Amino acid sequence: MSCLFCKIVSLEIPAEIVAESELSVAFNDISPQAPTHVLIIPTIHTENAAGLAKMSATITAALFTAADQIASDRGLTGYRTVFNTGADAGQSVFHAHLH
Ligand code: 5GP
Ligand code: ZN
Repeated sequence: MSCLFCKIVSLEIPAEIVAESELSVAFNDISPQAPTHVLIIPTIHTENAAGLAKMSATITAALFTAADQIASDRGLTGYRTVFNTGADAGQSVFHAHLH
């Protein structure tokens, strides 16, 4: 498997991991576009949000729950969540990730 984010899950590639569970790993984006820019990914590989939704509602929900927990832990009063799905929408890493 040559997937970059799978390698972050397996710790083959370093990342600033901020939270993890059996279902998800959250880490700082290497090129942040906001003061807080965390990527939350499923530990199981799937290409994008469409694949994720078809694979598991539980894992899809876990990503949003992780985002809310991280925001709450940091005292953020609001946050935005984004899935880019497909190269035409700007997706550049093809392992589903919630910004
Ligand atoms: P996309 O454009 O696919 O929605 O988002 C991919 C995101 O992954 C980008 O915001 C990019 O900065 C981030 N990214 C790409 N490579 C790495 C990496 O090796 N480490 C980390 N932490 N983030 C990465
Ligand atoms: Zn992957």
